[in-house]
Amino acid sequence: MTNNKLAINDTLLPCPFCGHKATFVDTTHWINSKKRVPGNIYGYVQCRHCLIATPFRRAGKYITLDGARKIWNKRIDGSEDHAHDTDA
Ligand SMILES: [Zn+2]
Repeated sequence: MTNNKLAINDTLLPCPFCGHKATFVDTTHWINSKKRVPGNIYGYVQCRHCLIATPFRRAGKYITLDGARKIWNKRIDGSEDHAHDTDA
């Protein structure tokens, strides 16, 4: 149950640019404890090959593990909310 950080890597799609494997990078310990929710894991997803990465912050809030995975797997840039896009 404490293996979230490793388990996420199996749910990440390959890099959209080079097709290599991506990894979740935990940034929780970099964030001021006043700015995070206790128990949340924060970070971003990065391609191990070309090093393209999702942002670690959006709209002034730090992105959690789940948020980073969504951004990566949906191929959105993370700077805007694309929730209303409906091309399936
Ligand atoms: Zn890549």
